[in-house]
Amino acid sequence: MSKTKSDDEAPILECLRCLDRYSKADVRSGLYRLETIVCSRCYARMQRAPHRVSCFGKPTMRTPDWKTLLGYNPSAPECRDLCPDRVVCRRVVRAPV
Ligand SMILES: [Zn+2]
Repeated sequence: MSKTKSDDEAPILECLRCLDRYSKADVRSGLYRLETIVCSRCYARMQRAPHRVSCFGKPTMRTPDWKTLLGYNPSAPECRDLCPDRVVCRRVVRAPV
């Protein structure tokens, strides 16, 4: 049995963060990440947010007055093993979502 278009576009997947609903078609177009159940819009928002709000998708940096802004750090256990967004973060830290 072949899948119908409506089946494909049924909004059955919920984003963990914004609670918007997405379809299988959205997964294929990259709008929704099955591996983390978070949508790309949320990841884009997190990446644009300041370091103190979200470390997602940003490199760890120093400010001119030598404060450390914590972002992605490949040697930190959080980034290597613990963070649920680590795979996506690693990928986008160099290329914006
Ligand atoms: Zn979302």
